[in-house]
Amino acid sequence: REEIIFLLSKLEAIIDFSDEELPINLEKVFISKTLHLLTEMKRAVKSSSFGERLRNGFVITLIGRPNVGKSSLINFLSNRNIAIVTNEPGTTRDVIEVLLDFDGFPVLLNDTAGIRESDSKIEKIGIKKALNTAKKSDIVLLLSDNDDFTIPNLKVSQKIIYVHTKADLNKKKLTLAHKISIKNTTGIEELVNMIT
Ligand code: GDP
Repeated sequence: REEIIFLLSKLEAIIDFSDEELPINLEKVFISKTLHLLTEMKRAVKSSSFGERLRNGFVITLIGRPNVGKSSLINFLSNRNIAIVTNEPGTTRDVIEVLLDFDGFPVLLNDTAGIRESDSKIEKIGIKKALNTAKKSDIVLLLSDNDDFTIPNLKVSQKIIYVHTKADLNKKKLTLAHKISIKNTTGIEELVNMIT
């Protein structure tokens, strides 16, 4: 920023005082410094995963057992009905992704199949995909509508945010997880702030 301001002042001088006497090599200095800055910026953007995230979006994955309210949360956040919300467990079988804006940051939010023991071949594939998607994301939102936050075979090293859903139903539960209710629209803004 400092360098850009410095270069801008030089550029303004070149434009404003073009018919007056300026140091002879001012233009040359301006060009070489600008090119140098450009190279530095390109290198910074390339080497930083933050830069990549700003281009492609930070990846956040919702994980939880079936019926805990994953699709409801993604629908609420995206304001569109992209995931199917039903009270029948095992409805989301593929990974559904939606690009959102969290306070200016692009976020790719993934809704995944509910994790449970299943004999269904298709559901099993969905569960495997869900766990793999979680592995590759920047943040995992682990949702549960009770005190049990265990997810079999979930092996992630990145940040997990524990979210207690349907807080309107069980107010007495004392989990350390962040409480939200889609029904009463409580705790969601705070969750978005936490993520941001
Ligand atoms: P998913 O399987 O985890 O994607 O769960 P869904 O989003 O499909 O929700 C399962 C059921 O829980 C649906 O009947 C929703 O209406 C209900 N549900 C979701 N969020 C809330 C909530 O905050 N409060 C209450 N009372 N019910 C909810």
